[in-house]
Amino acid sequence: MTATVTDQAGVVGYDVVDGVAVLRIVNPPVNSSTVAVRQGVTEGIRRASADAAVVAVVLIGTDRAFVTGSDLREFDGPLPDPQLPSVIRAIEQSPKTVVAALTGPVLGGGLELALGCDARVAHPTTVVGLPEVSLGMIPGAGGTQRLPRLVGAARAIQIVCSGARLGAATALEAGIVDVVAEGDLLEQAIAHARSASKRLLIDLPVPAESPGAVEAAAAEQLRKGRGRPQVVAAVGAILMAVSVAAPAALRHERAEFDRLRLGREARALRHLFFSGRATAREYRKDAAKDVTTVGVIGAGTMGSGIARSFVDHGFSVVLVDTDDAATSRGVERLVSGWQRAVRSGGMDDTELQRRRDRVTTSTSFDALGGCDLVIEAVFEDAAVKSDVLRRIEDAVGPDAVIATNTSYLDLDALAQQLQAPHRLVGMHFFSPAHATKVLEIVRGAESGSAEIATAVSLARVLGKTPIVSGVGFGFIGNRVFAAYRRQCELMVLEGALPHQVDAALQEFGFAMGPFAVADMSGLDIAWNMRKSRPGTGDAVIADRLCEAGRFGQKTGAGWYRYRSDSTEPIVDHEVEALVERTAQDLGVTRRPISAGEIVRRALLAMVNEAAQAVSEGVASSASDVDVMLTLGYGFPKHEGGPVFWYRQEDPVVVDEELRQLGDRLGRVSDDVSVLADRTTA
Ligand code: NAD
Repeated sequence: MTATVTDQAGVVGYDVVDGVAVLRIVNPPVNSSTVAVRQGVTEGIRRASADAAVVAVVLIGTDRAFVTGSDLREFDGPLPDPQLPSVIRAIEQSPKTVVAALTGPVLGGGLELALGCDARVAHPTTVVGLPEVSLGMIPGAGGTQRLPRLVGAARAIQIVCSGARLGAATALEAGIVDVVAEGDLLEQAIAHARSASKRLLIDLPVPAESPGAVEAAAAEQLRKGRGRPQVVAAVGAILMAVSVAAPAALRHERAEFDRLRLGREARALRHLFFSGRATAREYRKDAAKDVTTVGVIGAGTMGSGIARSFVDHGFSVVLVDTDDAATSRGVERLVSGWQRAVRSGGMDDTELQRRRDRVTTSTSFDALGGCDLVIEAVFEDAAVKSDVLRRIEDAVGPDAVIATNTSYLDLDALAQQLQAPHRLVGMHFFSPAHATKVLEIVRGAESGSAEIATAVSLARVLGKTPIVSGVGFGFIGNRVFAAYRRQCELMVLEGALPHQVDAALQEFGFAMGPFAVADMSGLDIAWNMRKSRPGTGDAVIADRLCEAGRFGQKTGAGWYRYRSDSTEPIVDHEVEALVERTAQDLGVTRRPISAGEIVRRALLAMVNEAAQAVSEGVASSASDVDVMLTLGYGFPKHEGGPVFWYRQEDPVVVDEELRQLGDRLGRVSDDVSVLADRTTA
């Protein structure tokens, strides 16, 4: 190949190779589409179109990505010109064939740009998708119109609404890419461009399908998307591809994209997207230690979940418990989890066996000698944990990191059990540990920076967002959630009923209300904690429920009652009577509490606690609270988290409401405005 013209000015380079103009998009760090990229591509297309020596064009990115997607930082206001639809128009109107050479993630606007080209040649590692719906929007540059013309309306509905990411082979089978390159991508794309002719996807008909298939796909996605407006809009726009002329359908799509993009839900989801990427940033600069083998002490609920999390991501695990029966139960849990994955098509038997082979079990701490990291997940008891930590330190090599999964115990006191306290960090996994998307990393006063960096980097490897918390009761997540639950219990004492509170918060968007959650996890855990740590907040009604043997689902009764064969909560008049008696005993006059007041007080309690956690330095950033609550506690993502919610409110009104709630909040934060940094909102 010979280059005849080279021009690397700006973010889009222009070369001519064998009569084909190669427009190379280089926009570090992630090759997103910004206004400079859009200008560069438009200018390159104009230049190639006018160049008689050029027979075709290849649009290519870097080894890392073609174009990962649109730069979301541009999305909060009017988009600068040229906007993506006009770049695509320029490609379509060019007399030259334009081929997209795809690498890496090609998502959102990146895929729409590629679909605006005449053909697509993909590197085998390419991944394509349209994730706009998960960000509260719909594709806005023809994605809902061109994709159905390739894959049919039913499959387009599934791909767009689920935000699915398709690998190169699947994209080839679906017709989204024309060729998967073997060998040099650019060479193949150039050869393809020289032989292919113009083929505007927008001019193709949508393949005929049975209306039943399209309706079924739409119904399934609307159900899964719980009626969110962007899912409704995406389905509507894709259906227009079948029934409406392309120019009008494209205009409709763009208008819907802009409406949703600027709406509160999309802003909330962008806030979570940026906040999720920014967590633990200050701890990422330190060098993490290499970890290949992980020891897990305690093969119970959490220990086996933690072990699975590591094994699923390629680590070897040594699982230790007090006796063989306990380790066997732990391994059974792991294997039955994998068997479920095999049954649902997530893996095959060979892979199951491979994972099983990476787990060894022992009843002796001596087996931990080769571990780079050991996490204890034994009973939540300071004496038991202290003993276990000392024994871990004796068993492991001098460089191994030691971690605890404690939910509430004082990490600094635990660290003092070690000869080298800097080795201890908290790695607080949430249940089910292999599936939850967040990991709370607790930084003790003496935790070493390499140890924290190791935990942070492992969280990312495990597919979890790391949130670093300081030491304090309940760290960040359980602390803020406990304040919310306390407020809900108080509202029950003052006049609401558990099912009214649950209904109001579910209507707000929580997957489950706090009382249904408490019944599911078991009321006895918090009860035991209150008994062992007086002063950690009273919960008179919950205490009385426990005294009556009502521990939740496991005893068939808690805040609700349950049939033996079901986890469906049933409103129980005995609870209402117990609530009324308790209120009388405490001299509280009950009154009706509206759904609006329930939601506001529950949110204000979280805001108040979040402000204290930030002021005390337990949370290093207010937005960490939002990431934690949405990923770990079922706070509705489309509301962006309690801090995002607060930032949309009038601070004067919130201050006044907090003042009025006064001691019903426990302690009113001195200054909720610590949450007011609006830079990421
Ligand atoms: P669990 O009772 O299911 O399991 C604890 C396991 O530890 C048992 O198998 C027990 O035999 C073993 N064990 C106890 N002492 C031991 C010792 N000296 N040596 C070796 N093994 C020993 O408890 P769990 O729910 O898995 O909780 C474990 C830890 O995880 C606790 O600190 C808890 O607070 C924390 N945690 C639990 C959850 C949850 O949802 N269950 C969530 C986050 C954190």
